Amino acid sequence: MTTTQIPSRLAQPWAQLESELMTRERALASEWQALAEQAGASGEQRTELAHALLANDPEGVRHHPDDRELALGRADALHAEQVAIGEALLALRDGRYGACADCGESIPVERLLAQPTALRCVRCQALTEQTSGAA
Ligand SMILES: [Zn+2]
Repeated sequence: MTTTQIPSRLAQPWAQLESELMTRERALASEWQALAEQAGASGEQRTELAHALLANDPEGVRHHPDDRELALGRADALHAEQVAIGEALLALRDGRYGACADCGESIPVERLLAQPTALRCVRCQALTEQTSGAA
């Protein structure tokens, strides 16, 4: 038997967060799939789906442009969440998870539990949103 020292961070609910992220990831993937099928997209790439949603629709008469806008907005939101989850899972697997991507400080576990895709502490997140929003 090898004795492995358990890093203290394992005391935090990483395993629980990882399984939550993976569950969410699967849910997103199937919603994406449904959206793609609805749109008649040939593949699962975001660009293909967007193209299919905006392209001439074989059932065009029944689809209002508003529906396509909505579907496209939903596809964008799905895509953004998938990316965020992918990044969080990657961070979990290489041990960066739970540390702020900007300042390196520990993100409170409560924040991670509320928002498992959080990659920044509240302060840095606010700064990021300010900078990107003000442009
Ligand atoms: Zn920070």
